[in-house]
Amino acid sequence: MANVDMSSISASKPVDYMKYVVVTGGVLSGLGKGVTASSIGVLLKSAGLRVTAVKIDPYLNSDAGTMSPFEHGEVFVLDDGGEADLDLGNYERFLDIALSKDNNITTGKVYSSVIEKERRGDYLGKTVQVVPHITNEIQEWIENVAHISSDEKDNPPDACVIELGGTVGDIESAPFVEALRQFQFRVGKENICFVHVSLVPVMGPVGEQKTKPTQHTVKELRGLGIIPDILVCRSEVPLVDETREKLAEFCHVSPEAVVSAHDVANIYHVPIMMNKQGVSELLSSKLSFDLPKNSKLLDEWEIMANHVNSLEEEVHIAMVGKYTGLSDSYLSVTKALQHASYSVGKKLIIDWIESVNLEENMKSSDLSAYDNSWRLLKQADGVLVPGGFGGRGIEGKINAAKYARENDIPYLGVCLGLQVATIEFCRNVLGIDNANSAEFDDDDENHVVVFMPEISKTHMGGTMRLGSKPTPFLVDDCKVRRLYHGKSYVDERHRHRYEVNPKLIGRIESAGLIFVGKDETGQRCEIMELNNHPYYVGTQYHPEFKSRPNRPSPPFLGLLKAACGIEI
Ligand code: GLN
Repeated sequence: MANVDMSSISASKPVDYMKYVVVTGGVLSGLGKGVTASSIGVLLKSAGLRVTAVKIDPYLNSDAGTMSPFEHGEVFVLDDGGEADLDLGNYERFLDIALSKDNNITTGKVYSSVIEKERRGDYLGKTVQVVPHITNEIQEWIENVAHISSDEKDNPPDACVIELGGTVGDIESAPFVEALRQFQFRVGKENICFVHVSLVPVMGPVGEQKTKPTQHTVKELRGLGIIPDILVCRSEVPLVDETREKLAEFCHVSPEAVVSAHDVANIYHVPIMMNKQGVSELLSSKLSFDLPKNSKLLDEWEIMANHVNSLEEEVHIAMVGKYTGLSDSYLSVTKALQHASYSVGKKLIIDWIESVNLEENMKSSDLSAYDNSWRLLKQADGVLVPGGFGGRGIEGKINAAKYARENDIPYLGVCLGLQVATIEFCRNVLGIDNANSAEFDDDDENHVVVFMPEISKTHMGGTMRLGSKPTPFLVDDCKVRRLYHGKSYVDERHRHRYEVNPKLIGRIESAGLIFVGKDETGQRCEIMELNNHPYYVGTQYHPEFKSRPNRPSPPFLGLLKAACGIEI
């Protein structure tokens, strides 16, 4: 990673030195640290600071690309092709920024870099150790990446939110905690604010708010040399004064710095809720920056939070994928659907359909699952087949694509969803009976979806076709182009190994399934649209990654519009 020239910081900035907010977590994972960190970013941004974010994942994988989304949640893809933790998606959506792969630090990346330097001879004569070599590497990495703009402006941001994954006390996060402890002296205490997210469970018949787990985790954190400036307490209900005071007494923070992060109707309320409890003031006094009297940005968040609450009339989208109960595996797709539903003013209901349940052989093994899944599919206002890997449930997805095509049901296929729609069309319209993808079938004869020539067959990590690539439109007018406001090309993010067989394109198009957008070479299919159908669209790219609450992704907006009977 390139070193950043610190002298480029301009004099007119709202702060004289980069401000850091470190968000750690205790008690258990899944407390919503990512949403807390993103919301803090929103508060900094609403005070006029330009904000970037860093996520630290203490696992040994270099990146999230080789991990199952059913274990860790979705793999979020960045413009530069980085395959990252889903929290980077939270930051991009909350702060409307675009991050790079260096904004996601893992143990794997840090160790690789240090070992490479050792081999090069950079530490010649020295014993290379966790402290200081790994901890220095972490600090340098954070400082460098914090100074890289993520909002299209040239000069460095004013503030960086750093989220440490996992829970404090884990063996694997220890070097990062130590690095962050040292970091406060490197950047100056007036430039760093530590926020610790904890849990306050509510127990017993009278609903007592229990402070002991938080007391323990703060004790652990302080034992490692970090004193939290702000405690964010996740709880089902708002913290009562007594709980706040008790936590202040036992955890060495002021009562005002104990923040209640209770359950709210939707996540857009979180920054508002934190602001109402004085978190902006706490940040401004700890980090010495001025707060404006009013914030247009926070007003907009409040309007959006209330708009989302007010939606009543339902729109049903059948999401046909592979599920193991972890809805985070399709987080960005879910968000993109939500953003589009806000825009059409409908309450989104996602009907999750396990795709194997739509397959014929389910009739004999689990008839009720088969019937229920088909009932959900047939009742839906629109169908979405998201991205995916591996053959399980593929025939069910093909059945869903067929049903949507034949019955004029709006359909959006993302990546794998485009490929299954192509297979279905080749089988049932072109009469290529055994049409399939090279991913699921070894017989070359059947391959209407083929392996891309440049992709490695030996290395799995970071070798797919990844990241943002331009897709020029090849037709003057079509639904998707209209949704993209008539633009001549789109720039969306990719993550795939297979593509529609270029040899078959002519035949497919002459039967009415038109590839309206291809890559710059004109060979690779990127966007497909079926003639004479209300909305039957597939994209080889993943439009969900660039969707924003107030700027829904065009293909998703198209699905929701068509599902509501709105003309595109
Ligand atoms: N498995 C398919 C491919 O590699 C689709 C990938 C995806 O949906 N992200 O091309």
